[in-house]
Amino acid sequence: MGLFSKDINTLEDLFAHGLKDIYYAENQILKALPKLIESATNPQLRKSLKDHRKETEAQVSRLEQIFEMREEKPKGTKCPGINGLIGEGDDLTGDIGEKHVLDAAIIASAQAVEHYEMTRYGALIAWAREMGRNDFADILEENLKEEKAADQKLSRIAESRVNAMAGGRGAGRKRAGSGSPRQRRNGRKAA
Ligand code: ZN
Ligand code: FE
Ligand code: FE
Ligand code: FE
Repeated sequence: MGLFSKDINTLEDLFAHGLKDIYYAENQILKALPKLIESATNPQLRKSLKDHRKETEAQVSRLEQIFEMREEKPKGTKCPGINGLIGEGDDLTGDIGEKHVLDAAIIASAQAVEHYEMTRYGALIAWAREMGRNDFADILEENLKEEKAADQKLSRIAESRVNAMAGGRGAGRKRAGSGSPRQRRNGRKAA
């Protein structure tokens, strides 16, 4: 990494790095999801995590499609961001002994990951469009759409029941103001 030999110099280089970064991240997420699914108690939560695991497999394939279009072999590059988020979630959930509180923590950790993914896809899509590669951008939009939907689904599950159970309101009835402000904001409106 000498003065004149930095690896990333063009927007194209930045895109190439970002593609490898999110490819690594999606694969780490695929590895992390089974444990979350296993630890979750709420059936809706389990189902939505399982559904998102399926989606994540498809997302990995879409990224591979872009590598192919670029005539590159699919290859990841270590993403400290996602490793940090997954590690933090692991540490936290490992400390929780009450299953409903655990559900609330699983949702919050999963949402941190969804938001990370959303920022990465947002940037990659903008860069691809700037590069005149709407074909890449359109594929990446499909992944972004799924991340947003997963995030909103998790907010709905938290607000409709999981937070109430974690808070000791066993009936899980709805109450105005349930859910964290962040969850409320992101949970925008389910229908
Ligand atoms: Zn990176
Ligand atoms: Fe993803
Ligand atoms: Fe990263
Ligand atoms: Fe995701």
